[in-house]
Amino acid sequence: MYLILFGAPGVGKGTQAKILSSTLDLKHISTGDILRTEIASGSDFGIKAKALMDKGELVPDELIADVIRLAINDALNYNGFILDGFPRTVDQAKLLEKIVKELKIPAPALVILKGEDDIIVRRLSKRRQCANCGMIVNLSDLAHKEICPTCKAVDKFIVRKDDKEEVIINRLKVYRAETRPVVAYLEDKLKTFRIDALQPVAVVTQNIMQALK
Ligand code: AMP
Repeated sequence: MYLILFGAPGVGKGTQAKILSSTLDLKHISTGDILRTEIASGSDFGIKAKALMDKGELVPDELIADVIRLAINDALNYNGFILDGFPRTVDQAKLLEKIVKELKIPAPALVILKGEDDIIVRRLSKRRQCANCGMIVNLSDLAHKEICPTCKAVDKFIVRKDDKEEVIINRLKVYRAETRPVVAYLEDKLKTFRIDALQPVAVVTQNIMQALK
């Protein structure tokens, strides 16, 4: 199964992609995670990407192209892939079409997670990352606000630079201008499902699974 998980920043793509990829044995391809790994390694590519990501801008398509080709090639060892955070521009959507054709894999389904902007901003402002294991959590979902549910580290939560309020606002602006047009470009070509992302996590997962059946 090949899926594009699409939606505004903070709508829950990463959370759903993690659950679905382990349930369905799909490779979870998050371009944001790949870029953050590059930043952590201190590579030239990571340094270039960081300056843009910290402002909420997109990394140029030509830099993303190599990254996504490598990741999709690797996905051939799985039952398929879930794209999380790609394509983010119409040119990236065209690149994806090209790669799918070259590799002769089935056309992916487009799963659009829908949510209101103000709720998304509120959610993103409560998002934290564990400095110990990298896990992204939302404080509203945690019973113990200081303990990482994955590695149990205490008081290790930090705010991602691009989750600061002024950056969130810019990310939404970039999303509306550059990323939302991807839907108009792809929806007539791909099987498309719209899912209400503001339901509890388990309900959203269930609704996606139901839609994909
Ligand atoms: P994410 O973790 O998906 O929210 O991505 C975090 C940041 O990484 C974005 O705000 C962009 O700066 C950058 N990024 C991630 N994926 C892409 C992409 N497909 N194209 C361009 N920039 C990206």
